[in-house]
Amino acid sequence: MPRDEVARDTIAAIATPAGRGGIGIVRVSGSKAGAIAKALLGSVPTPRVATHRSFRAASAELLDQGIALYFPAPNSYTGEDVLELHGHGGPVVMQELLEACVAAGARLAEPGEFTRRAFLEGKLDLAQAEAVADLIDAASREAARSALRSLTGEFSAAIRHVVGSLAELRALMEAMLDFPEEEIEPVHAEDGARRLAAIRAALAEVLAKSRRGRLLAAGIHVVIAGPPNVGKSSLLNRLLEEERAIVTPIPGTTRDTLREAIEIEGVPVTLVDTAGLRSSLDEIERLGMERTRRELVAADIVLLVHEARGKAEVPQGVDTQATRIDVFNKIDLAPGFRPPETAVAVSARTGEGIEALRREIVRAAGWSSAGESVFLARARHLRALEAASMHLELASREKQRWEFLAEELRLAQRELGRITGEVSADDLLGAIFSRFCIGK
Ligand code: GDP
Repeated sequence: MPRDEVARDTIAAIATPAGRGGIGIVRVSGSKAGAIAKALLGSVPTPRVATHRSFRAASAELLDQGIALYFPAPNSYTGEDVLELHGHGGPVVMQELLEACVAAGARLAEPGEFTRRAFLEGKLDLAQAEAVADLIDAASREAARSALRSLTGEFSAAIRHVVGSLAELRALMEAMLDFPEEEIEPVHAEDGARRLAAIRAALAEVLAKSRRGRLLAAGIHVVIAGPPNVGKSSLLNRLLEEERAIVTPIPGTTRDTLREAIEIEGVPVTLVDTAGLRSSLDEIERLGMERTRRELVAADIVLLVHEARGKAEVPQGVDTQATRIDVFNKIDLAPGFRPPETAVAVSARTGEGIEALRREIVRAAGWSSAGESVFLARARHLRALEAASMHLELASREKQRWEFLAEELRLAQRELGRITGEVSADDLLGAIFSRFCIGK
């Protein structure tokens, strides 16, 4: 496990959210945690025993009373000596406690610094450390469950399993490299090929679960498009109405009249109604309009709405990379209407077909929720997994040139190592932990 060579100073932060609450916690980590406990509490509490104490400033003035917890290294969140002061959760009290810790030798922690230290001390690998932030930020129950799976190491274990088999295969290959080609027994070559195929299958499974999990974190961006008056706004409202009770805002999206956040099967979905983006003429022909185009570029799914009447035909020529779902609306006005096979028929007015549409949206985005576990992967993880499978594919094409094959295996292993942090540059760590909030 990587460790910092330099001696680390002692850090302190308010670990609970800003504002007023029943309890607020100041967390201290580092070699001075014991000395700080002495300064504020009079003595160091018994390790891991909740101890009721008075919290005092250097002037001996009473700041608060509460529970103190002391976790000596290495059995703490960060792996260092940790002191937690659970006081009354008011901003003034918390600030004073924090200042008293600083006066006693701590410095203010930077965002994510506690978790960064936990990583450096080998308490968590990098994927687990990221899962801490993902769990805190989870916007749905499914996202939280998946983040927790990563935090408890399920994702890392799946990666390590692949890395382990890869390392074995590499050892086998390197041994073969020592022999002249004509002496390599075909049975060894076959064994190698079999192992490689198994590794690729295992990696493909991790990748598939990660891609689905990515949807939980990133959400699905759905744009509703179509000619005027086909019922786009009505459809948006109907989709919202069904969800109103559990609507969660998606971080980073400005909520204006055109953009609404819902959840389908636990997956965050952003709905954009292009009706508000323009006001005239035939929108299908006008999809090239700048604002609409921008929405379509960002879209994962386009709901192309048509009116259900007469003979159902799916129009051609809508220019988008997104997966398109044709929706025939107003079926209440067209009894006996049969939509084309690939389309969904609904009535925004009566709600008929809306449930099927919701299922189709998440299915088209690649989500399947049939109780299987997914990994709440980050874009960084997906990139590494995809690069690793690319190297394994190249490896599988090398039937003769063992040194090339061995090199591809090495590259694949290195990509996977990035995920858990075995291979990690300082700037990557900086980028990951700076996105945490202070106190984590
Ligand atoms: P937009 O211009 O595509 O956003 O369409 P609107 O949502 O504004 O709807 C246009 C008109 O169609 C309104 O008068 C709606 O009440 C009506 N409408 C929308 N959906 C349905 C539907 O499912 N059934 C019926 N009968 N009327 C609908």
